[in-house]
Amino acid sequence: MSVRVYRSGGIVVEAGGKRLLLDPTGIPDRKPDVVFVSHAHSDHCRPSVLRALKGVPKVMSHATRDLVDPRRRLDSVVAVNAGEEVEVAGLQLEVHEAGHVIGSLQLRFDAGATVVYTGDFNLERRVVMRPAPVLKADVLVIDATYGHHRYTFPPRPLLYKAIVQTVREAVEEGRGLALAARTLGTGQELTALLSLVAKVVPFVEEKIAEKNRIYEKYGEVLGEYAVHSLRPPRGAIAVVPLSSDHPGAVPCTGWAVGRGIPLSSHAGFSDLLRYVVGSGVATVYAFSSFASSFASYISREMGIEAYAL
Ligand SMILES: [Zn+2]
Repeated sequence: MSVRVYRSGGIVVEAGGKRLLLDPTGIPDRKPDVVFVSHAHSDHCRPSVLRALKGVPKVMSHATRDLVDPRRRLDSVVAVNAGEEVEVAGLQLEVHEAGHVIGSLQLRFDAGATVVYTGDFNLERRVVMRPAPVLKADVLVIDATYGHHRYTFPPRPLLYKAIVQTVREAVEEGRGLALAARTLGTGQELTALLSLVAKVVPFVEEKIAEKNRIYEKYGEVLGEYAVHSLRPPRGAIAVVPLSSDHPGAVPCTGWAVGRGIPLSSHAGFSDLLRYVVGSGVATVYAFSSFASSFASYISREMGIEAYAL
């Protein structure tokens, strides 16, 4: 059974006479049978595009729906939970935890060949979320944001230890510390780490706190935190958005390898390889930043057919 994977508005998978559109941020050339939204980050989901795809079933988690469509303006939403299997447009779709941000899902379906779409994912045990399981597949469409060996991150326990130590030193010296994080993702991980492990009450910027409430609605325990809008009080331990211009804030992102704290909600390079090996896959399609170098690496080093999207 042939499976075609290409880009048109998002990632399109054609198999078994069906067309699935994954994480659209633009209008596709041809109308899909099903749309799948893996999570709420803006590079995976655009509400205006979803609104334009009228009448097409849109599969997403309940939490993603809360984040992208709080006023319930989208039609044909099929809201699911990780671990469920649903039939949509004649396709059996399995959705699994992706461990990336609240509500993030992986998708698996069988159309002659078993196809897995990871979306953005994380395999590590963290203070928030459950890790993504590695799913068996014939065809794997995988996130390659950090698909370069430069982005092999230290294991979570070591990163956590370094962050907690930095925070404790700042507290002992009576000086403030701001950690800069993604508004949805590492913002909540840091809130929980500071509150539950470092045992401080962090000042969390309002945009991050808004997302904290969605995590809490879905059962994640983040501990105690205070909320600030413009600037945290002088001397506070704070979590601010990466996009803020807070002076001296320590960036916590995978891109900060070598200059900050490489804490990411994405899988690093070694976990991407772990996924490819564990999935037992025959064909890989890589998407996002390092798609080309990742596809070349696994085709060259592992002998697996691989393409960049
Ligand atoms: Zn993401």
